[in-house]
Amino acid sequence: MTPFAFKGHPVPYIAAWSSEIVPLPRVYAAPDGLGLAGHARDTDGVLWKPMGIRQAMGRPQYGIVHGPRQRRCMRRLLCQVCGQPADRDEQGVLWLLEASRGERGWPEGQVTTHPPVCRPCAGLAAQLCPHLQGKVVAVRVGRPVVDAVYGQRYVPERTVVHPGPADVVLNSDPAVRWMLGTQLAASLLDATVVDLPELRAEVPA
Ligand SMILES: [Zn+2]
Repeated sequence: MTPFAFKGHPVPYIAAWSSEIVPLPRVYAAPDGLGLAGHARDTDGVLWKPMGIRQAMGRPQYGIVHGPRQRRCMRRLLCQVCGQPADRDEQGVLWLLEASRGERGWPEGQVTTHPPVCRPCAGLAAQLCPHLQGKVVAVRVGRPVVDAVYGQRYVPERTVVHPGPADVVLNSDPAVRWMLGTQLAASLLDATVVDLPELRAEVPA
C-alpha cells in the first residue's frame, strides 16, 4: 500500500493532519496523578493526549506525530510510513535507526519511539525522516518490547500542575502517572545490524 500523498509528497502514516489537532483540555493534579478534564487513563494507567482521527483531512503536519496511529504501529508492529505490517525475517522485525554515536553495545537495548518499517517503505523512510538523513542504519529486532511511554511530564503543586520536560518513562514506573503520554516507546532486544542495499546511498561515507 502506498502512503497518503499531499501535493505529490508522501505523508507517513504516523504524521498528524491539521484536522486531527485538538485543543488540550484542562490538566490538573488528581489524587492518583495527572488529571485531564473529560479523559480517563487507559487500562495500563496511562493518560494519553487527545487527538482527532481524521487522516488525510486538512494539511499534513510533518513535524507532529499522530499519537494513536504511532501507538497502533508499535503495538501491532506496523510500518510507520504506510501502516501495513512491518517487514520480518528470521532475524526479526525491520527497524531503521540513527547511526550510533558510539554508545556501548549499540543497538542492543536501544529505546525508540520510531515504529518499524516494511521493506518497500525502507528507502522512503530514510529520506522522509529528518533524524535518519545521512546516518540511517537497518536493524533486525528479534524481541521488540513495547514497555514505555513518551510524553510530557507534569510537576504537581497542590491542585495545579506545571509542565516539565518531555521524557520516556517505563509503564511500570509510578512516574508514568504524572505524564501526558503521546507515543509508545520500544526497547529493541536481540538487535542485529543488517545490510539493506536500498539504503546504501543514505549511509555516511
Ligand atoms: Zn510501509
